[in-house]
Amino acid sequence: MVRIIVIVLAAVMAVAAAAFFWVVPVRVDAAMNVVRPHDPYVISPQARDLHASLRVADLHSDMLLWMRDPENWNDRGHTDLPRLRAGGVAFQVFSAVTKSPSGQNYDSNSGDSDRITALAVAQRWPVDSWSSLYARARYQARRLTRLEARSDGRLVIARDREQMRQALIAREQDAELMVTVLATEGAHPLEGDLANIDGLFDEGYRLIGLHHFFDNALGGSLHGLSNAGLTEFGRAAVARMLERGMIIDLAHSSYAVVEDVLAMTDRPLVVSHTGIYSHCEVRRNIPDRLMQEIASEGGLIGVGFWGDVTCDDTPRGVAQTIVAAVELVGVEHVALGSDFDGTVTTTFDGSQFEVLTQELLVLGMSEADIRLVMGENAIRFFLENLPAASSG
Ligand SMILES: [Zn+2]
Repeated sequence: MVRIIVIVLAAVMAVAAAAFFWVVPVRVDAAMNVVRPHDPYVISPQARDLHASLRVADLHSDMLLWMRDPENWNDRGHTDLPRLRAGGVAFQVFSAVTKSPSGQNYDSNSGDSDRITALAVAQRWPVDSWSSLYARARYQARRLTRLEARSDGRLVIARDREQMRQALIAREQDAELMVTVLATEGAHPLEGDLANIDGLFDEGYRLIGLHHFFDNALGGSLHGLSNAGLTEFGRAAVARMLERGMIIDLAHSSYAVVEDVLAMTDRPLVVSHTGIYSHCEVRRNIPDRLMQEIASEGGLIGVGFWGDVTCDDTPRGVAQTIVAAVELVGVEHVALGSDFDGTVTTTFDGSQFEVLTQELLVLGMSEADIRLVMGENAIRFFLENLPAASSG
């Protein structure tokens, strides 16, 4: 009798474990990274021809967070390599999310809770990543590094300018070649240790977001409790990142942190995924004057595709946000920052950038300007601002 109970219990536990490890991550991914159902987009021949001639670039995808085969066309989430290639993407920034508070919102969050721990366990990430944010960043970088190694040269992680330049030359013979940059969503993987900046650099990280949804050792988040500027550790960290030739991303940082970083450096800065405040007055979009100051220092603003920052997530609404950004900061400072796979809802996925080209045409943007915002600005920015060499 005892034996039967033990066998039944073991069977129940095995089923529960299978559900936890195989079903839950898939369900969570599908529920959190949504493409709103829509009628098929009808693309005009003019938009199709123009789009086919573009090198599309996007400053923010969280694809590496999810248990989804990036080498296959998936029916959930927003991005994988085949979909991005179908969308005409030549350059993609992949960002590593390492901590996200429960009840996450744009107004006020503490860093006391974390939903990524359960996701890391459920997705069978390495055991050290269950408790270490640095290990989570390292794991996601190594996922992309493995994809690069298996790609036969068709996926390149750009670690310096020359490498990116060479990859773009190779892409002229092979439109499926994709150049990528590794980014962090918040600098909390430093775990308070400046030496980890060098570790992240060695793993390939070049674009460093200082914050995500909560205040960290570097300073205040846009959605934290303190609204503080850079701490002493934050200043030392930013100085070291700049010394290594890393690029700073101010998305999710408090106004005070944005101001402090602007005061610290003349180097061009990025806001990788955002809307424009005067176009969509929400907490997630920092004031226009800060956007203008970032642009005036040579910075780059990536326009997001989701409703919380655009106030209208249709392709037309996203295009209107891009037009508003161009009017605010000048066409050469505007890029795309989809936030694909960043637990957002969009109306098109990584294979459908074409519809955005079409909507920009409809709004009267010139083909030359569409070329800039859809990709060339971002490509030029990284060619100019990645480290001159991978070592040093
Ligand atoms: Zn984000």
